[in-house]
Amino acid sequence: MSLPSRTQHNILISPIGKFSTVLIEAVAAEIERVFDFPTKIEFVLQDLSFALDANRNQYHSTAILEQLAARIPAQSVRVLAITQVDLFIPILTHVYGEAQLGGAACIVSTFRLNEGRSGINIAPLLIERVVKEAVHEMGHTFKLRHCPEHACIMHYCRNEEDVDRKSDQLCRYCKVMLDDEIKRLKPKGC
Ligand SMILES: [Zn+2]
Ligand SMILES: [Zn+2]
Repeated sequence: MSLPSRTQHNILISPIGKFSTVLIEAVAAEIERVFDFPTKIEFVLQDLSFALDANRNQYHSTAILEQLAARIPAQSVRVLAITQVDLFIPILTHVYGEAQLGGAACIVSTFRLNEGRSGINIAPLLIERVVKEAVHEMGHTFKLRHCPEHACIMHYCRNEEDVDRKSDQLCRYCKVMLDDEIKRLKPKGC
């Protein structure tokens, strides 16, 4: 028989490759604030070669999500990976990120949000965009779907201008849905 765990449940933030601490910490702080779980930064996946599509020279995000979900530690309720590589799903030219709806894993890429530049970048606008898209993808893992409200962070964005136009907040409707899901996920007695 094992004793009930005293370790607090957390959300794992998993950078893939090198990032500025400023960016990672900005993402972690906002995820913690919106989703009400402490965050932990840990590198769970580094080599993405399995997801590379040589013809497109892009990485298939769905394959990466499967690997992330398989590596999530027991104490973590969700994992968010952050990558600099260009991500795609077969029906779209590229994606800013992807999430398992109601699942364990999500990912966000800085590539398009940084206008196709890779490498360490701490421009305030890039950080703002990455934080928004990270919260958006994490929202999907908490069962939130795309929201028709243009200002809502769960609004689907086609381009960087859309990302810049939407606010960094959930609309009231999405917030109520999220709070219900968080309540359901919080381990009893914690
Ligand atoms: Zn979305
Ligand atoms: Zn909404």
